Amino acid sequence: MRIDVLTIFPDMFAPLEHSIIGRARANELLDVRITDIRPFSKRKHKNTDDYPYGGGAGMLMLAQPIADAIRAVAPEPYPGKRIYMSPRGQLLTQNLVRDLSREPALLLLCGHYEGIDQRVVDRYIDLEISIGDYVVTGGELPAMVLIDAVARLREGVLGSDQSAADESHGAGGLLEYPHYTRPQVFEGMKVPDVLINGDHARIAAWRREQSLRVTAERRPDLLKTADLTDKEREIWL
Ligand code: SAM
Repeated sequence: MRIDVLTIFPDMFAPLEHSIIGRARANELLDVRITDIRPFSKRKHKNTDDYPYGGGAGMLMLAQPIADAIRAVAPEPYPGKRIYMSPRGQLLTQNLVRDLSREPALLLLCGHYEGIDQRVVDRYIDLEISIGDYVVTGGELPAMVLIDAVARLREGVLGSDQSAADESHGAGGLLEYPHYTRPQVFEGMKVPDVLINGDHARIAAWRREQSLRVTAERRPDLLKTADLTDKEREIWL
């Protein structure tokens, strides 16, 4: 999968050189290319922002350098989705992440200051995506969140396919059960007996029950759309 990122702060993307995403890139499972918007500016000092028409606080990113950068890295017809990271966008959920992970290519545009000239969005952007109902200073961290979430669903990126199948916000729609590792007793707290008796059916039943309990406590809204048996519906809804 190819992911192009357009930004005025390319150095901010160093985290994508490490850990699981760094390894996926090294193994050519993921082709992430970071492009600096600034060299595309036709202004004398290569600046990329200006005052907004109509007044108001803050600067806006210019349309021209962004449009030229998009045309350079993602000429039409574009095979995937061109996305502007924006607090006004569609909320990034695991369902949306799953859809995006099936695209052959993504283009992520990172805004800064007050955002970008609307005409770029109208002409070149397929989708605006928000990572949550809050505002951060630039689109770089949101873009990295999206890249990480999408990349780990691509085949071969995680150690085993199972790792992504069973977890919170997965296909079943529940939050995940708690995990424990060695030692069996830590600061006086014991690992639940059921996990050390080797009875796989009982372990599966306990984990299911824990998933239902934690979802009911923390995110009861998720239970309404989760994949539940009739009996579970009676108990938990
Ligand atoms: N004035 C804009 C507004 O009120 O909608 C906020 C601009 S924000 C300070 C600057 C840039 O950060 C945005 O252009 C966007 O790229 C990015 N950004 C901020 N919060 C975001 C969020 N929740 N999700 C995705 N991108 C975000």
